Amino acid sequence: MSDTRHTRVLIIGSGPAGYTAAVYSARAMLSPLLIQGLQPGGQLTITTEVENWPGEREIQGPDLMVRMEEHARAMGAEVISDYISSLDLSQRPFVAKADSGMTYTADAVILATGAQARWLGLPSEEKFKGFGVSACATCDGFFYRGKEVVVAGGGNSAVEEALFLTNFATKVTLIHRRDSLRAEKILQQRLFKNPKIEILWNHAIEEVLGTEAPLGVTGVRAKNVHTGETVEVPCDGFFVAIGHEPASELVKDQLELHNGGYVKVEPGTTRTAIPGVFAAGDLTDHVYRQAVTSAGMGCMAALDAERFLSGEE
Ligand code: FAD
Ligand code: NAP
Repeated sequence: MSDTRHTRVLIIGSGPAGYTAAVYSARAMLSPLLIQGLQPGGQLTITTEVENWPGEREIQGPDLMVRMEEHARAMGAEVISDYISSLDLSQRPFVAKADSGMTYTADAVILATGAQARWLGLPSEEKFKGFGVSACATCDGFFYRGKEVVVAGGGNSAVEEALFLTNFATKVTLIHRRDSLRAEKILQQRLFKNPKIEILWNHAIEEVLGTEAPLGVTGVRAKNVHTGETVEVPCDGFFVAIGHEPASELVKDQLELHNGGYVKVEPGTTRTAIPGVFAAGDLTDHVYRQAVTSAGMGCMAALDAERFLSGEE
């Protein structure tokens, strides 16, 4: 049996971007292969309710991703449980080597490897993830109407999340480990002016506090990085906003990255600087980072790939 397979379109990643690209490229008769990676279904498989996927007032993240996989398969995409460990984009066909020992060659590649929220790494943070601890205010802010929340971080994301959360929460405490923010000045101005926001400077989160039954957050304990004194800040929700890590490892030496590791595409398209290589979803998006925008970019990538391939024929 040969351990090399060729495909017209290779899709790397099985989040909303990857599965949408698979649906569109299968319907374009390109018989795509989609490699799922270590997290089949992507980031939404680690959340509970999703309330902003159009057409579903509420759906569990893992269920939505199972449905996307079924949809991609039903349209004719081949979905493969494997992990791409190296990708050579220096010549066509492009060559992807997988953990299973398989080598995939492809006329076009759609990169949809997503991004992962950076976490603090505390055991209590892990324990309450999905039960009061979140890394996505757009996704979960709505659950904190009339409640108090804490945001950790000092970059654009943290400030934007804090501002956004004032739409729901009665009080937002931003806890930052230094005495100045790295967020843009205009965002800082908005933050400082907002009466619902309080800032706790020079504090590092030590522990997320909560109840066992039902599992839920009641506050955080933070330590002054200069004096060592600790303080408990009561809250119902704790948002970690200390950055995201785009999964651009495979292409970091082959494609231009920006904004801390996101793959750069030609504006308004999913085209990278290498003809035949397209990028979609959170891997290329440091601004919106939503399931629906990722799916939209997956659609764009499939259409861009189809046009690229048919232009060659
Ligand atoms: P991802 O979902 O990140 O998927 C990336 C895929 O790439 C994974 O399948 C992974 O296995 C694969 N992969 C990575 N490296 C490799 C490799 N080397 N080889 C093969 N495969 C690889 N958005 C909303 O719109 N609504 C919400 O309610 C919402 N809630 C969220 C809750 C949480 C806890 C989190 C973390 C995010 C949430 N988001 C939400 C954001 C949303 O999940 C992302 O915007 C979306 O999943 C991004 O889709 P994607 O397809 O770009 O990548
Ligand atoms: P970021 O700029 O890397 O900021 C991360 C913040 O989290 C920093 O303030 C950092 O503290 C803090 N932090 C990191 N690790 C920590 C830890 N272990 N414990 C406590 N605090 C920690 O990340 P980001 O805000 O997500 O932004 C990422 C990129 O996307 C940036 O280029 C940003 O400009 C861009 N972005 C842009 C927009 C926009 O244009 N509207 C919105 C969001 C993001 P220190 O400051 O002490 O290092």
